[in-house]
Amino acid sequence: MNYHSMSAAELGVTRDELTDLYEKLRAAGLSLDLTRGKPAPDQLDLSTPILSLPGDDFRDPDGTDCRNYGGLTGLPGLRRIFGELLAVPADQLVAANNSSLEIMYDLTVAALLHGTPDSDGPWSRQTVKFLCPSPGYDRHFAICEKLGIEMVMVDMLPTGPDVEQCAALTAADDSIKGMWLVPMYSNPTGATVTEDVLRSLLTMPAAPDFRIYWDNAYAVHTLTGEFHEPLPILQWAAEAGNPNRPYVFGSTSKITFAGAGVAFLGASADNVAWHQQNQSVSTIGPDKLNQLRHLQFFGDADGVRAHMLKHQELLAPKFALVARILDERLSASKVASWTDPDGGYFVSLDVLDGTAARVIELAKDAGIALTAAGSAFPYKQDPNDRNIRIAPTFPSLSDLETAIDGVATCVLLAAADSLLASAEN
Ligand code: PMP
Repeated sequence: MNYHSMSAAELGVTRDELTDLYEKLRAAGLSLDLTRGKPAPDQLDLSTPILSLPGDDFRDPDGTDCRNYGGLTGLPGLRRIFGELLAVPADQLVAANNSSLEIMYDLTVAALLHGTPDSDGPWSRQTVKFLCPSPGYDRHFAICEKLGIEMVMVDMLPTGPDVEQCAALTAADDSIKGMWLVPMYSNPTGATVTEDVLRSLLTMPAAPDFRIYWDNAYAVHTLTGEFHEPLPILQWAAEAGNPNRPYVFGSTSKITFAGAGVAFLGASADNVAWHQQNQSVSTIGPDKLNQLRHLQFFGDADGVRAHMLKHQELLAPKFALVARILDERLSASKVASWTDPDGGYFVSLDVLDGTAARVIELAKDAGIALTAAGSAFPYKQDPNDRNIRIAPTFPSLSDLETAIDGVATCVLLAAADSLLASAEN
């Protein structure tokens, strides 16, 4: 029944029933974790053959001995494969070590220390602000927080960031130097940026050294079996006269091994040259043997797509389970809404305003760990105390069922409590 149309007496009865249910949940002594978007062990098993590659076959198709130093831009064969998947010309795509987040961090530190090719000087000499479409990825925001970059929240809509907000801010303020964005199956809302939104972001007036961190971490992570063409952001940026505006990121962290994949950076020739020059001081080259393993394992872009369909087979039932339980338990109450994404790793659950932190606390006391309240917002401040990120990939189906059902009880209990408190005031 719709909680908003219940009388105080009805809410009281409902709250008591939910309290009983919650006490039973607590008594079950659960220990379940829905906090981080990690691949489950059966997903990692899909890539086990990589562990026996490259064997004695340590030369790449161009004859490079991958055991030795060098090759800062990474193996051309692998760059061709992921260039196709990320819509980046292979000669503008760098294949690096395992973490794309590390590349984002390094690029930002380099800009703070030295300035970008389009900056007057180091960013650190002035106030630096980044636009943060929210809900967004907490580790992006953590980079800003660590490096003293002021975060400016903009709304993340189903079509991507609110471009009117973005354009008004960048046009008025040259200290806005960056913007985080997960363009496909975003973390956590599952939104995918539309062509119109991207074109606006590439043409809007902004500081010459304004950078879009286009973090395409989930470019091939379909939950439906369909693959969407990635938007050719670098080409469109060049056509818009702002070739240096985007940085494109991707990695195989959620394709092969989360801790031992290959990460990629795509950018204009000038940005790539600048990055390579910075990198050349800190490393003589990436782990080419790991790149070679990936190249041999996939063969081509279709090899990656075929592999992602195996992930989809394992993950789609988990997302369907979450959607079914949330629908069965929460729809009638009208105190929550949630996403049912076509891809990616997360479900974004919006609960009754003012109750998200309480839900997370209730769940924690019942042994169900959820991502900390406010995590998907700059400075961990959810302005409506409403959003909860659910990561359904890691638990088994049966643990997931127990956990989501438990979360639903917490959502309803917190809502009944809150509505009752306002009804009594
Ligand atoms: N970007 C996004 C949007 C992510 O969700 C994640 C992983 N949760 C990462 C980057 C991390 O990528 P990597 O493992 O390549 O550092």
